[in-house]
Amino acid sequence: MRTALEQYDPQIYELIRQEEARQSGSIRLIPSENYVSRAVMMATSSCLTNKYAEGYPGKRYYEGQQVTDLIEKVAQDRAKKVFKADHANVQPYSGSVANLAAYAALIQPHDTIMGMSLVHGGHLTHGWKVSLTSKFFNSVSYEINTETGRLDYDKIRDLAKKHHPKILISGATAYPRTIDFEIFGQIAKEVGAYHVSDIAHIAGLVVAGIHKSPVPYADIVSTTTHKTLRGPRGGMLLCRAEHADKVDRAVFPGLQGGPHMHTLTAIAVALAEADTPEFVAYAKQIVKNAKALAEKLLEYGFNLVSGGTDNHLMLIDLRNKGIPGKKLAKALDRARIVTNYNTIPGDTAPPFNPSGLRLGTPAITTRGFKEPEAQQIAAFIHRVTENIDKESVIEEVGKEVLLLCSQFPVPEHFIIPNRNGGRQ
Ligand SMILES: *Cc1c(COP(=O)(O)O)cnc(C)c1O
Repeated sequence: MRTALEQYDPQIYELIRQEEARQSGSIRLIPSENYVSRAVMMATSSCLTNKYAEGYPGKRYYEGQQVTDLIEKVAQDRAKKVFKADHANVQPYSGSVANLAAYAALIQPHDTIMGMSLVHGGHLTHGWKVSLTSKFFNSVSYEINTETGRLDYDKIRDLAKKHHPKILISGATAYPRTIDFEIFGQIAKEVGAYHVSDIAHIAGLVVAGIHKSPVPYADIVSTTTHKTLRGPRGGMLLCRAEHADKVDRAVFPGLQGGPHMHTLTAIAVALAEADTPEFVAYAKQIVKNAKALAEKLLEYGFNLVSGGTDNHLMLIDLRNKGIPGKKLAKALDRARIVTNYNTIPGDTAPPFNPSGLRLGTPAITTRGFKEPEAQQIAAFIHRVTENIDKESVIEEVGKEVLLLCSQFPVPEHFIIPNRNGGRQ
């Protein structure tokens, strides 16, 4: 039986097949990526994509919400349960929109926000200069201590005292160490700021209790749903009861129209998956794999920002290797190892050609890779680095990567379901 997609749009069908082959035939080390389960994938491709549901359960602007109201309540309840939060809004289209909604809920345009500098590991939406968040708001950035590669809370406090932000943002997109959300909460209190915590990268680790949760220490917690949390692409906001109405109004009608109900449905599924002992074991293994990969990279003479990792990601400082991040990322991609080049704290190279490489283990861990495979990956990276201009060696590594991938098929993963929901 040919699928509807194959029949009606062979061109796109073929491209999806190619992407499926690429995802299963490469080692995916981009720390913000993952493989979702078959159940999550089925929810995103369900008929919920056909439904408009502007508003919230019980207060919609369109009729026909008998089922959508129930689904959204389930998603909210599951989010509240796993994150131990008073209130959850599961409608943000993505992490970026969730952050903008969090700011809009609490402060006025041109008020000051203070977040981590993008080139030190913060996200665009934490007030970086090319982001609208720095145009709508006055933005001040704190930086990493370039000697330790870690956050320097005393310096952050000093900067906050100097600039008196209305919002202090904790959280990062490229920080390999544990973040002390309690101290961020204290600093925010001391300067009369709200504390918004963005756990987009580490949400899965937080749910599993491996990284301390910011929920008790933040006014609003923002997250994506598709990184370590292993759900569909989307965003979510959690907050204390006192901010619930403001948060809901900021998302709708403040920023968005109708929620993507198919995504919201899949978020509910992912939250149920996250609320299991299997998920806790998965999250623990993410960190074990990251530590194994980091240790082996150090043995091969790579420098890591902060000297290692506490979480799912690490940043290689390539300056001692004399290879720019982009050049190595591209060579690794040819060897079927997918990473992203990244700035490192204190980078003197330009941001479009930075000195670092960012690696993470959420996707390979979903695949079933354990410490020995993580160490094997370090050896692959070492070989490509040492033979950066030898295409034959890079090709050889690519073949070995493909072999390793074939021994660890992506579990429960499918892109194009057939009529029985199985793999084609
Ligand atoms: C990924 C990320 C986001 C943005 O998420 P999108 O879904 O890509 O908009 C926001 N904040 C942090 C810290 C992130 O890592």
